[in-house]
Amino acid sequence: MKILFASSEAYPFSKTGGLADMAYALPKALSKLGHDVRIITPYYQTISKHHHRMAFLGKSSVNMGGTTTEVNYFTLKEDGMSYIFVQNMHYFERDKLYGYNDDAERFSCFSYAILEGMETFDFFPHILHLNDWQTGMVPYLLDQHYRPRNGHYFSIHTLLSIHNLEYQGSFDTYVSRFFNTDFDYAYIHFDRVNFLKAGIERATKINTVSPTYRDEIMTGDGGFSLDGALMRRQDDLVGILNGIDTDLFDPRNDPMLETQYGIKDVKKGKRLNKESLLHQFDLDVDLDTPLVSYIGRLASQKGINLMTRSLEEVIMYSEARFILMGSGNDSYEDYFRYLAEKFPGKVANYIGFNESIAHRLYAASDIFMMPSRFEPCGLGQMIAMRYGTLPVVRETGGLKDTVTPYNKFTGQGTGFSFSHYDANDFKEKLFEAINLYHSDKDMWDGLVRNAMKTDFSQKKMAEAYVSLYQIILGV
Ligand code: ADP
Repeated sequence: MKILFASSEAYPFSKTGGLADMAYALPKALSKLGHDVRIITPYYQTISKHHHRMAFLGKSSVNMGGTTTEVNYFTLKEDGMSYIFVQNMHYFERDKLYGYNDDAERFSCFSYAILEGMETFDFFPHILHLNDWQTGMVPYLLDQHYRPRNGHYFSIHTLLSIHNLEYQGSFDTYVSRFFNTDFDYAYIHFDRVNFLKAGIERATKINTVSPTYRDEIMTGDGGFSLDGALMRRQDDLVGILNGIDTDLFDPRNDPMLETQYGIKDVKKGKRLNKESLLHQFDLDVDLDTPLVSYIGRLASQKGINLMTRSLEEVIMYSEARFILMGSGNDSYEDYFRYLAEKFPGKVANYIGFNESIAHRLYAASDIFMMPSRFEPCGLGQMIAMRYGTLPVVRETGGLKDTVTPYNKFTGQGTGFSFSHYDANDFKEKLFEAINLYHSDKDMWDGLVRNAMKTDFSQKKMAEAYVSLYQIILGV
């Protein structure tokens, strides 16, 4: 099968969150299953350092609302996969990936470039796999402008994966001029242009990244106002659980770790990693004390409000160390700084994005907090479990589908979970986890083994996508 995977971010070249990881893990696993996959993604500023390895593929013209822009295509192979970068200096070579006033124009350009590129570099896929709002307009533009062009375009099937429904690409209606069509309700939602809504209307099939999130987004609570549009397409909407790249996230072979370890020497391995990280972060070194961590975007989605209402009490009344890592919302960053200042020796923070510190923190930690308000899938908790770190999560979306709650009677479980979005419930679970670490080492070690044994492999995920592609193609 020929698959073109279009994503606004792709590890290891650009990353703000889980979409980038997925844009690496899934194409790689699909290639291993024998499919011909190309990843198409913007050429951001940070990518220029790889330029010497790239080959020029061609160029095309993008016409948006009467203005013509040129884009270049470059390709390189990484880990056996073909990446195609869409270069337009004006739109993409900036400091950040998103958050500009002209994002609608930037990602309209990317959308056209994907479609134009197929002709330029002669790769017409059976499946055009789109991701999130940045590529949400592609099925619409394909219908309006490209299917009539020739049979290659005519027979393309699309899949839109929704990684996070909160981000919809909602803009003032003036941006519709970039679509080169008459006004159309297909992309209008509450009097605004909505890229994701257009994708929901027009993609052949839609999926989201966990079965539970699939159900949640069709409710008023979880639908971010698109529940009606999704309900209308419920027969074409499926939930496929994300996997993680088990080669990239493998404590046995992770070059970023102080000490590598597997399930057999997990206790020793984690202690050595913990020792070095506690030193690095200037925390009091006590290896019999659990290290509790957070790694993630500092956005309200992640349940940081539950932390601001409960963490101080947990820090004061428990024997534990805390390392809080992330960036985003200023007030949450300030809160992490405040905790580190108030509890020197016990709490540290890392404000920023750093892949290697994140890996080392997953390995060194014993407990990983992820009390999300909603969570389409969540990779953090899966990575944590793979590194023998037990997650404390709220039972929502993919967190519910991936973490088996601890059962004190049977010893089953891979983490701790609570159901209501309530700071007290979170606090109690966190205390429970810390107390269990101190009071029942055998039980704890059993849970760590359960967590490490869980299969979150990208192979499982890729097989599920292949089945969906086959349904789409009717083969
Ligand atoms: P989301 O996609 O909502 O941001 P996920 O849990 O699905 O959340 O994926 C987050 C990914 O980004 C994980 O690989 C996580 O380790 C990584 N990550 C998040 N914050 C940081 C950070 N500050 N530094 C390094 N890696 C981070």
